[in-house]
Amino acid sequence: MNIIIEDGIIVSEEIIHRGSVVIEDNRIIDVGPSEEIRRKYSASGYVKIDARDKIVSPGFINAHTHIAMTLLRGYADDLHLQEWLEKWIWPYEAKMTDRDIELGALLGSVESLLNGVTTVCSMYHYHKEHNEASASLQVGLRMVMGVAMFSWDVEGSIKNVEDALNRWHGREGLVKVSLSPHAPYTVSPELWVEAERIRREADERLGSKGSVVITTHILEDWREPEIVKNQFKVDIPSGSIYLYLDKLGVLSPSFTAAHSIHMNEVDYEVASRRGVKIVHNPVANLKLGMGVANVPKMHEYGMTVGLGTDGPASNNTLDLIETMKYASLLPKGLYRDPTLLNAKKVFEMATVDGAKTLGYGDLGLIKPGYLADIIIIDRKRVNLTPLYDVYSHTVYAMRASDVHTVIVNGDLVVEDRAVKGVDVLDLMRRVEKRAFEIREGLETSG
Ligand SMILES: [Zn+2]
Repeated sequence: MNIIIEDGIIVSEEIIHRGSVVIEDNRIIDVGPSEEIRRKYSASGYVKIDARDKIVSPGFINAHTHIAMTLLRGYADDLHLQEWLEKWIWPYEAKMTDRDIELGALLGSVESLLNGVTTVCSMYHYHKEHNEASASLQVGLRMVMGVAMFSWDVEGSIKNVEDALNRWHGREGLVKVSLSPHAPYTVSPELWVEAERIRREADERLGSKGSVVITTHILEDWREPEIVKNQFKVDIPSGSIYLYLDKLGVLSPSFTAAHSIHMNEVDYEVASRRGVKIVHNPVANLKLGMGVANVPKMHEYGMTVGLGTDGPASNNTLDLIETMKYASLLPKGLYRDPTLLNAKKVFEMATVDGAKTLGYGDLGLIKPGYLADIIIIDRKRVNLTPLYDVYSHTVYAMRASDVHTVIVNGDLVVEDRAVKGVDVLDLMRRVEKRAFEIREGLETSG
């Protein structure tokens, strides 16, 4: 579709106060002051969107989550990580079918779009036909589907990754597949090496449809070096998980780690030198009592850091606007320095930096040549009045419900908060019914 978004406040590399954006097919082809755009594009053939009294922003990028877990939202809270996983989450997940994963992911996709998120990177258990990507495509959300890999099923993990790459990578210009070795404590050294080998081979073969990256969890838990050492009888040199992985040859600019809360000096040095990228998940990290990642220090080391919500069972929403606010406020309070992570930097983390963590060089900015993933925010809101600074409002004052219209890959997928392609009320009914059925099944079998 060809679209001109007219007369909005455009959050481009600079703010244009009465500006327009021209989209042809799935790309942004021009941005500028409205008068200039009107002179250049007088021809018909464009759908016009009136953005007066609205803010036009790049869509947000949720760079780490598990969206199928909407089914487990609020199922178990206020527990330590291991107890939460072993007694509650894993037994429930064992009862989930491929259709349940698709159902949960569809609700997660709808929630994401309504929150202004246009790209989600989600790690989960893979099934061939019904999975997180089959769900996200139903509503036109951009998806990096992370195929989870575990040492307890090496053969299955590798088969799943190969199948997903061949079947889903590049689908409809919206899906990429990433390899997701789950974490150093669930993935053997041999499987790490194999994952990186497959990634390189896939990137060469399929890279024209989107670069292939590794997405994983590193150092969410401060005990991780000790756990890995005992689990796989390996040496963790200098107590550094990143040095351990570097010696296996798996670190590269295509390696993206969620969390990395408990890095030591060697970890910072090695990870930054290898161009590793980080996804910061402040809300879930706080909720599980895991600590707070030192993002200012990562930035000092020149690292690219994106933002994630983590799964809706540990957050418990997919609201990246809320995440931006936490990301900005936490270091200010912790280090008693309000200049840390200012609003503009956090906005970049939620957009263009997040895109880079997922291997996109043409996403996250309103700029000619970039993918047309754009959100339009209603600024005639009590909580957004008066408006001095767009970045300040987006990070500190905006609510997800202020998102009005969403465009992904040049397609209008949300208009006036109505999500296309799905009956949302019916979806909510189906999710609730199935969520309680699974819980009842657990009670009778347990
Ligand atoms: Zn996670």
